[in-house]
Amino acid sequence: MTVGATVRGVRARAVLAPLDPPVQTASGEVPNAPLVLVDVTTSDDVVGHAYLFCYTPTVLPALTSLVTELGAAVVGTPAAPRAVEADLRARLRLLRPQGLATMAIAGIDMACWDALARRVALPLVRLLGAEPRPVRAYGSLRSMAPDDVRAEATGLARLGFGAYKVKVGAAGLARDREVIAALREAVGPDAEIAVDYNQTLPVPEAIRRVHSLADEHLLWVEEPTRADDAAGHARIRAAVSTPIQLGESWWGADEMAAGLRADAGDHAMLDVARIGGITGWLRAAPLAHAAGRPVSSHFWPEVSAALLAVTPGAFLLEYLDVAAGVLRRPARVVDGAVVLPDEPGSGVDWDEDAVDRHRA
Ligand SMILES: [Mg+2]
Repeated sequence: MTVGATVRGVRARAVLAPLDPPVQTASGEVPNAPLVLVDVTTSDDVVGHAYLFCYTPTVLPALTSLVTELGAAVVGTPAAPRAVEADLRARLRLLRPQGLATMAIAGIDMACWDALARRVALPLVRLLGAEPRPVRAYGSLRSMAPDDVRAEATGLARLGFGAYKVKVGAAGLARDREVIAALREAVGPDAEIAVDYNQTLPVPEAIRRVHSLADEHLLWVEEPTRADDAAGHARIRAAVSTPIQLGESWWGADEMAAGLRADAGDHAMLDVARIGGITGWLRAAPLAHAAGRPVSSHFWPEVSAALLAVTPGAFLLEYLDVAAGVLRRPARVVDGAVVLPDEPGSGVDWDEDAVDRHRA
């Protein structure tokens, strides 16, 4: 290892990774995952990897281009992740990075951390100061229709999860109960169940439904109303007994801090790309813990497992692997927990044949 390596290059490639089963949403099925694959090469020939899931292929060219352009700006600078992240944020300060700009910075940041871990021949979790250990996870369902939920949950149950999450809100309260019943039937009476409304309900309707579902003893209800309505979530939280889960939509530690000040939720779930990469997670997660919110993760099971292993007040990892179709070693679940690989890096490595097949 060369002390003080610099960034030699940043490459971004767009792929449409197959999703099996597809993800069902209130607005239709998503058959594949639009991903930007980020590779950061250092001056001592180490390559760090990360991927960004951008929800819709419409923004794939824009995000790929942003990663390429921002990457070009840090070529020749020290390959230290915190230095790269600070440099990129400073370059976009007047834009006030959010959305795709934050994601692009996060992708480069995660790839820089992966490169650093590989350079010092440590798993990311060891680089961050912890031992690899199983990280407790929940099975996050892609399906919303009751029959599909039953079938998918039966498969997930073989991985030994103690908790599951399903999306509801596609229709009325009766349908929500039907979906929860289908999941319960598949995973048994002892498993914990959380539900996600994906921001679909107006505040009064959210209060009515969550109140009605009290007899389901749900682990949490996620984003019942618009994610940017912290005051609305605070009203819902004050009116119901079921814990409210928020956080996947926070762009950075500052927005998270505002959500915590508004008393908008009982739990915090961080999305490593939206919160600002590994550097952003390390900045944000302790704030949630200090505010008494158990910290869970959103997507990105490989990197999130290492981060939860070093997060005070860590609760549950969301197991929903949208990148498995292009990864050499997708996250491995044993007895309901993600097992961290004891190999150098973050665990993200491309199956190059699959990448070639699914280039966008
Ligand atoms: Mg969610």
